[in-house]
Amino acid sequence: MTRAIAYIGLGANLGDTVRTLNEAVHALTKVPQITVQQVSSMYGSAPVGEGADGPNYTNSVVMIDTQLSAHQLLDALQRIELDHGRERSHRNAPRTLDLDVLLYDDAVFHDERLTVPHPRMLERAFVLLPLYEISPHLTWLDAKGQKIILTDALPQVIGQDIVML
Ligand code: AMP
Repeated sequence: MTRAIAYIGLGANLGDTVRTLNEAVHALTKVPQITVQQVSSMYGSAPVGEGADGPNYTNSVVMIDTQLSAHQLLDALQRIELDHGRERSHRNAPRTLDLDVLLYDDAVFHDERLTVPHPRMLERAFVLLPLYEISPHLTWLDAKGQKIILTDALPQVIGQDIVML
């Protein structure tokens, strides 16, 4: 039976973002094949890149133990995004929740649905800081099979505009 440790990145920047992330973590705990092991603090950061004038983001990272394959896990995350990521105030309000598979054991792969490790995680303080909070000794393999040591990667994102909430 598949049994993997995976790290999920959570983000929201519309509506009540803290509530949305709390609901998303709760939803993860309700998936029978997922055991939530660790939940980071929430972090607030200004948007960067495209859409940089939007509201601030709230992000966190969750470590899970799961019997789902990586693609089944993505299915579960996308269901939670649909269930919890909409403003309740009116119909068809914009999606407010983004759930990413950051790491899935030591898996390194890329297909039309899923790239693992998440290709942009090394650039993002809002991923690396919560990861450091819950797994300070974490290491993983990048797409080229090179070992990444979290503490070595952190200096590249120091200086990004981010606060622990
Ligand atoms: P976005 O909502 O912008 O994060 O993009 C979601 C899309 O990215 C979905 O269609 C996924 O199939 C795809 N995707 C590729 N790799 C990943 C990953 N590691 N985690 C979550 N979604 C991913």
